Formats: sequence, C-alpha cells, structure tokens
Amino acid sequence: MTYTEPAWAKLNLALDILGKRADGYHELRMVMQSIDLADQVTVSPQPEPGCRVTSNLLYLPKDEGNIAAKAALRFFEASGTPLPGLSIDIQKNIPVCAGMAGGSSDGAAVLRLLRRLYAPEMTEEQLEEIGARVGSDVPYCIRGGTALAEGRGERLTDLPPLPPCHLVVCKPSCSVSTPELFAQVRVRKLRCRPDTAGLLRALEEQDLEGVARRMYNVFEDVLPRRYGEVFAIKGELLGLGALGASMTGSGPTVFGIFSDREKAAQAAETLSGQYAAVHLCRPVQREIKS
Ligand code: ATP
Repeated sequence: MTYTEPAWAKLNLALDILGKRADGYHELRMVMQSIDLADQVTVSPQPEPGCRVTSNLLYLPKDEGNIAAKAALRFFEASGTPLPGLSIDIQKNIPVCAGMAGGSSDGAAVLRLLRRLYAPEMTEEQLEEIGARVGSDVPYCIRGGTALAEGRGERLTDLPPLPPCHLVVCKPSCSVSTPELFAQVRVRKLRCRPDTAGLLRALEEQDLEGVARRMYNVFEDVLPRRYGEVFAIKGELLGLGALGASMTGSGPTVFGIFSDREKAAQAAETLSGQYAAVHLCRPVQREIKS
C-alpha cells in the first residue's frame, strides 16, 4: 500500500525579528500562508527495516539529511517503537532553497502520514511537538493555512484565512544563505518593520488591500546588494498591478498579491519571460483534522 499527502509551500505575509535570545536563536514574529504549490509525498511500508528516500530531484539527500527521513526517525523515537521499513518518495515541485519551507513541508507531510498509519490517536499538538524537533517551520507546516508563528516559529495561533486572491510567486536564480542573513540582522538598526498588528486587523476585517499594503520582511533590509533581482521583481510585480509584494522567508523568492485573476496571469506571463521559476497560485486554507 502507498499513502500520499500534498506538502504545501508557505509564504511569509510578514516576517519580523524581535530580538536575539539567550539560546542563540532569534525571536521571530511571522504571518504564514500556505499556497497551492505542493510537493507530493508518498510513504509506503516495506518488509526490510530502514528508511529510504527517493525523489525526482536526484541531488536531494536520501538519508537523515533529508528532512522527510529525519521526520520519520523523530516520529518513531517519540512513539517509542523501532523504525519499521519505510520508503518515502518526494515529487518535488516547490523550488529548493527558496524561502518557501519546501523541506519542512515534506517533513510535515511525512508526520501527518505516519500519524494516519501508525498512531491515529495522537493529537495534533503532540504531532507538532515532534515537528518542532525536526525543524522550526515544521509545526506550522503540519497545520498550514493562515497562522501567526512566534518564538522560533513553533508557537502558533490560527488566523482568519487570507481573503480569496491570486499570488504570483517568482524565484530568481540567485541563492541566499539563511545563516548569512541572520548574521547581518542588528535588531535595533532595522529601518523598516512590518505592521503586523495592522495586518492581523486587516485579516480580521477580510480587507485584502489592507493585508497587501502592510506586508514586509525585515530580511529585505539586510539583503546584500548582489541580490538586486529581489527588488527588481518586487518593483515589476507592483508595476504589473499587485496590491502588495514581499520577499518570503530568507528569500530569494518574491511574491505579489492580486485581486484580479487576469492581471495576475499577465504578470506571471511577463515574469516567465525573464525568470525560470514563476508560479500562479491561490492560498490554501487550514484543513481541520482531529
Ligand atoms: P525555509 O523557507 O524553511 O528557510 P527553504 O525553502 O529556504 O526553507 P528548503 O528547500 O526547505 O529551503 O531546504 C533547502 C536545503 O535543505 C537544501 O540544502 C536541501 O538539500 C536540504 N533538504 C533536505 N531535505 C529536503 C527536502 N525534502 N526538500 C528540499 N530540500 C531538502
């Protein structure tokens, strides 16, 4: 038997860094949104013990270096049962190293599948606790939808869904190092911060323009000059009719929010002429699962 789950990509509608903690991690405040760009994660029990990963992206790690395998190991550690034979296949559609939590989302899909198969009595809270041991974004990826993520990203509050809209997501070819960006951040020197409280009010009022106007990611403040493409894409999206545009995670992917489908499709077509990874997406709401 095989069991498959979509692993949705996430965007940051807001990403703020509040300070550095005594444990060395940064204190974050992020508004997260799942979108319908997804990897397909398939788990199949095998007679031989051990966990093997396959993927259409041949360079992804096949062992514990793959977040999907790490999630399986943490799941069986937490449930106190030996790791059974498992094969995990990942059909990768989410760009890698893009700030869209692709790996974390694969890990989260594995955890949801393993709970379904081996521990249906496990609560979502317990599953999210295991997820936090796999990676900071994994608890959010387990639940998905629209959520406020605080702490390292593991303290979650569900939010009203992003109103219906169209998202143009564009990843330039440059790649950004997350540790390098964190090292650049001096919290007191940040010139611009997202209006997270205003964004949460706009979500409450289902005011799409209000949300789009308030989006911001503090990493944009410290991006080295060589990532000029990020700002070029942002400018293009706004010029093509986006209500707002922002970088997601530690980049380099940029997205724009559109209320009008035609304008969004036109913008996606225009950007596809210049960039290899352009996607026209819709937001995905949280699936309520017991
Ligand atoms: P985030 O938004 O959480 O910062 P990201 O989108 O920038 O993540 P990912 O694509 O999730 O980055 O992960 C990138 C790194 O993790 C790569 O070095 C890749 O080899 C490794 N990795 C391990 N497992 C996976 C996986 N299942 N999918 C993608 N990358 C993986």
